[in-house]
Amino acid sequence: MYDFYPFSVVPLQYPYNALEPYIDEKTMFYHHNKHYQAYVDKLNKILEDNPVLQRYDLESLVVKANSLPQSLATEIRNNAGGVYNHKLYFSTMTPNKTQPSDFLLKKINSDFGSFENLKNKLKDNALAQFGSGYAWLVYTNGCLRIIRTANQDVPLLTLNYPLLPVDIWEHAYYLKYQNRRNEYFENWFKIINWDEVEERYILAMNKRC
Ligand code: MN
Repeated sequence: MYDFYPFSVVPLQYPYNALEPYIDEKTMFYHHNKHYQAYVDKLNKILEDNPVLQRYDLESLVVKANSLPQSLATEIRNNAGGVYNHKLYFSTMTPNKTQPSDFLLKKINSDFGSFENLKNKLKDNALAQFGSGYAWLVYTNGCLRIIRTANQDVPLLTLNYPLLPVDIWEHAYYLKYQNRRNEYFENWFKIINWDEVEERYILAMNKRC
């Protein structure tokens, strides 16, 4: 249902206004209920017209995108990517105060030097991305890294396993923050669901080739 055709939007685990004042209710509603939904609807339509792709799960579609015929490749890359990235974005935010466990923090300190360095590097990438895209905490070959991607590209395309995205499309912040992407980042950082990030980290560590 969330990972197989026909795809559907994963319901938010908290009300639309739960992330106030960091992310406002209106932005959350339009982002989740309209933008994310639109990617799901478009992906379902593409698969309806291309039934041979219906047996692939979301992750496989994202990874397979580039090996498809050109016109289909772009459509799948954008829309399966949009579904994948939004599912992850909304699940890694929470109104509950969380923080990295000692286990995760030890890895962060080892790979970035400090938690502050991780934040700064993620922020630098979020601010440096030209146009629409995401900045990410990913897990690659045993290491935590920060990368950024354009449009709805997914880190899996470059063999990075995504742990935490920050959506820097304007639809993610423009209603409240207008051009102040920096302020959006600072406030988004306060509502990260570190429990979910850690779950993904453990999943990534145990993933087989
Ligand atoms: Mn978005």
